Parts: sequence; structure tokens; C-alpha cells
Amino acid sequence: MSEAQRVSIVASHYRLRVNPIACDAFGYCAELVPEIIMRDEWGYPILDEAPIPPHLFPWAERAVRECPRRALFIEKVVAPRP
Ligand code: SF4
Repeated sequence: MSEAQRVSIVASHYRLRVNPIACDAFGYCAELVPEIIMRDEWGYPILDEAPIPPHLFPWAERAVRECPRRALFIEKVVAPRP
């Protein structure tokens, strides 16, 4: 299989992830992007596996940039197309 063929059968998207060891649980990120970041009872972000919606991507990037503990990051997910 050539590289071009292999590329054609995968899809990618981006999702938010958190390092719970570094996170201080003050919830600044959830205040910035409440549409995709919820908080648990201790204040830690709850992130689902869903792709970041395109219209919220700039806000997700801002949340990553402004996380005071550098605990939040955007992960690229590459998966085979069904
Ligand atoms: S902004 Fe960063 S440190 Fe604060 S709750 Fe969100 S991930 Fe944790």
C-alpha cells in the first residue's frame, strides 16, 4: 500500500486532554470554554472524547495557552475511517 493510499483511509480530529497531576482544579479553562469543558465536584475539568467543534477551536487553544499550570493540551487523534 502506498503512502497516498494509507493517508486516504485515516481521518483525524483534535480533542482536549488534561494532565490531572499538574492541574490545580481552579477551573479557569471551564470558564473560558464551558461548551466543552465541564468540572467535576473537585473542580477538575471533565473532557469527553468528542472532537473539538471547529467554531470552538480558537477558544480551546486559548484555554491551553492560558492554563496556569500547563496542564491542558490539544491532542491529535488519528483513526481509520470506517
Ligand atoms: S486551567 Fe489548567 S490548571 Fe486550571 S483547571 Fe483548567 S486544566 Fe486545570
